[in-house]
Amino acid sequence: MNTIQIADKKFELLMENETINKRIRLIGIQLNVDYEDRCPVFIGVLNGSFIFMGDLLKEIEVPCEVEFIKVSSYRGTESIGTIKEVIGLPENLGNRDVIIVEDIVDTGITIKHIIDQVYLQKPASVKVCSLLYKPAALRAPVEELQYTGFEIPNDFVVGYGLDYNGLGRNLKEIYRAIL
Ligand code: 5GP
Repeated sequence: MNTIQIADKKFELLMENETINKRIRLIGIQLNVDYEDRCPVFIGVLNGSFIFMGDLLKEIEVPCEVEFIKVSSYRGTESIGTIKEVIGLPENLGNRDVIIVEDIVDTGITIKHIIDQVYLQKPASVKVCSLLYKPAALRAPVEELQYTGFEIPNDFVVGYGLDYNGLGRNLKEIYRAIL
């Protein structure tokens, strides 16, 4: 179906599941090359990254560890601007190669906050891997954002882990809100 309704909002198909999975396989190949002979720790940002994290990790062939952090900063389709840590970072990131896995980088405020917290533990390296990225919404460049799945327009999207008021995370495809 190309158009769906979630609560009070209509959404149209933006990306098929197969398109998403093909791109994730390529990101996996790139990570396997870049982290050869290393043992990175992947930190997924809950809740939105859970499906991406699962599919991405299946492509990773280097030894690695997996952790999650949970932050909440959004209500509905608009930012409320404050970041609340619900599950904090692991405390053993000193000298580790850290890869933060996000569903989407929008303004970049959330990821910047997490990156700053990771640096406090003096890791060997910090990179960000985000499935989606909205260049038009980014407030300031994020140097660590080195792996991105797709650049998308400045629209609100749901599916493949991303929600609208808690709904839609289970959709296999990604949809964008119709104004
Ligand atoms: P930022 O701090 O970069 O503005 O936003 C990051 C977080 O906001 C994401 O992890 C995600 O939870 C939420 N977010 C940003 N844009 C969207 C969107 O288009 N759809 C959904 N469902 N969440 C979004």
